[in-house]
Amino acid sequence: MERKVIIAGNWKMNKTAAAGKELVEALKPLVADVTEAEIVVCPPFTTLNAVVAAAAGSNIKVGAQNVHWAENGAFTGEISAEMLVTSGVEYVIIGHSERRQYFGETDATVNARMKAALKAGLKVIVCVGETLEEREGNKTSEVIGRQIKEGFEGIAAADMANVIVAYEPVWAIGTGKTATPEMAEETHKFIRETVSAIFGGDVAGALRIQYGGSMKPENARELVAQADIDGGLIGGAALKADSFAKLITEAIGR
Ligand code: PEP
Repeated sequence: MERKVIIAGNWKMNKTAAAGKELVEALKPLVADVTEAEIVVCPPFTTLNAVVAAAAGSNIKVGAQNVHWAENGAFTGEISAEMLVTSGVEYVIIGHSERRQYFGETDATVNARMKAALKAGLKVIVCVGETLEEREGNKTSEVIGRQIKEGFEGIAAADMANVIVAYEPVWAIGTGKTATPEMAEETHKFIRETVSAIFGGDVAGALRIQYGGSMKPENARELVAQADIDGGLIGGAALKADSFAKLITEAIGR
């Protein structure tokens, strides 16, 4: 099954509108000839409009970092799927470990956000991953199996075409520690098998699974060369145009 590589940059709480525009303007010429990978940047909410405008007409797509599950209403500080779509946003990250760790995100809220985002026509990047304690306690499969089963509860198989999973071992995020390609591949394979058991082999075969956790230009090639690793969700290395562009070209094996 041919799956197009997808590399997404998660800017987290970095970059004002002006700085985001500057990054995208610098990135555009560096990746203009990349057709082998889908490229996505995910700025903070207040930077989305500037980045959508800067990326217009290029091969860089734009995603948000979160979305609320309600269509509208009394949810101070939240952003709806419709607000994102009408701002020109195509993707949204859901369930990042930092949201699970600091903002009370659960598999149930991931599920509710996914449903709202998919209904509005967004493509979702759903993050799963184990903590160091869970890995050391041999609970990786149990945790990720639960995150997928509960997070994906009631999602229609047809909607899975708009779902990307990001496997991000929590102990590898922003720490400089990367899972070895073999270690990551083992978990990616498990994720595909879990999705296959729920949605069937065709959906699982078409599903793109990104690796995230200290991915950088130096290790992207080897990671994405693994059979079940279809790209990356990138934090630190996505904050500079040259490192992000280099990572992209390494990931597609140039
Ligand atoms: C992330 O936050 O999604 C991430 C993978 O961060 P980093 O690349 O900095 O480890």
